[in-house]
Amino acid sequence: MATGKLLMVGAGLSGAVIGRTLAKAGFDITVVDARPHIGGNCHTERDEQTGVLVHAYGPHIFHTDDAEVWDYVNGFATFKPYINRVKTTARGQVYSLPINLHTINQFFGSTFRPEEARTFIAETQADATIATPRNFEEQALKFVGRDLYETFFKGYTMKQWGCHPSELPASILKRLPLRFDYNDNYYRHRFQGLPEHGYTEMIARILEHPSIAVHLGTLFDRSQAAEYDHVFYSGPLDGFFDYRLGHLGYRTLDFERFTHDGDYQGCAVMNYGDADIPYTRITEHKHFAPWESHEASVCYREYSRACGPDDIPYYPIRQVREKALLADYTALAETAGNTTFVGRLGTYRYLDMDVTIREALDTARGFLDALETGHPVPTFFRSPL
Ligand code: FAD
Ligand code: UDP
Repeated sequence: MATGKLLMVGAGLSGAVIGRTLAKAGFDITVVDARPHIGGNCHTERDEQTGVLVHAYGPHIFHTDDAEVWDYVNGFATFKPYINRVKTTARGQVYSLPINLHTINQFFGSTFRPEEARTFIAETQADATIATPRNFEEQALKFVGRDLYETFFKGYTMKQWGCHPSELPASILKRLPLRFDYNDNYYRHRFQGLPEHGYTEMIARILEHPSIAVHLGTLFDRSQAAEYDHVFYSGPLDGFFDYRLGHLGYRTLDFERFTHDGDYQGCAVMNYGDADIPYTRITEHKHFAPWESHEASVCYREYSRACGPDDIPYYPIRQVREKALLADYTALAETAGNTTFVGRLGTYRYLDMDVTIREALDTARGFLDALETGHPVPTFFRSPL
């Protein structure tokens, strides 16, 4: 059995999963989080006025192909089946996303069958002159063509990222499928669902262990590190070094809460594709818990903007400037000593929850292996670069 004192900075999924795994291996774990609650950005809470379970930092749907991760989360919560079916309002109509046969037939006023739609898009819409898309816009033009791109992606993406889609990597659009059947499941993954009582309850159970102590409302500063044998840091990489090389760029989100009697929009997530609507989407939280029954409804209008020093960082921007700065911070991190940088902020990457858990499990196991073999503990188990 291993012994020693370890500090987890952050009580989100990264800190909770690493902490739990290493508590089971025999370590004393302290978890600190600056916020007054556990759960990080997956935090869910009951809205006082309506009683609806709210995804406080934006809608979170669990989806994965990783059977070990799926078993892991099911060990701490009852997952209810849930398929994310997103709608979008664009140019005066409501369409189904991701782009599927229904979207295509509605958009072009057609009654195509799957192969007809595929041929129609390939022969009349897609830009065949683009061999290898170099950016988001080229990726869209190559696969769906200008009309669908400008209706569903261009305006939304400019609002979401604050720049032209030609300045963004193609990989962002590759997250979305394009389908030539009526399957409107937003995700492709085998396992999909939502924890019946929310993510915060699930994460509380992960943290429930006699060797884990959690301190909320506690900001980490580097002087605390000396009291521990090792630190796992899931806060912002640049913040660890007091932003001494500058700020890594992020987008932040503002949520405008409003309530409604009854059903406001008939679905959990309604996107807004038009550039002149200032918000990107509206989330109606009660539709994330169809097994509950609520007359009153609470919704969040979501606005995206550049992240200032006092805002919550949400989406890493990872353009050319940020990548150069990230390389400098990554080199600096190697000098931190007894610290491993983890999670979406510690490695400055967009990570879905399942990937966060996979990496947290691998990080904890890698740490134990390093101790056993006498190798140095890596600063990053997954390189941010
Ligand atoms: P976080 O959840 O950010 O936790 C880090 C914690 O560290 C925070 O609680 C913070 O307060 C704390 N902290 C930071 N610095 C300090 C410090 N100096 N001192 C003390 N505490 C500190 N994933 C999906 O799989 N499905 C989805 O549908 C989905 N939707 C998303 C929607 C949005 C809008 C966003 C932004 C993300 C979404 N994600 C989704 C991703 C998901 O939120 C992440 O995978 C997950 O939150 C990562 O967990 P983490 O522990 O690494 O980071
Ligand atoms: N996107 C879009 N229109 C939509 C939904 C998504 O243009 O209605 C773009 C947007 O740039 C987004 C990307 O596709 O960042 C990936 O979509 P996803 O749903 O994964 O969004 P995210 O997780 O970034 O919010």
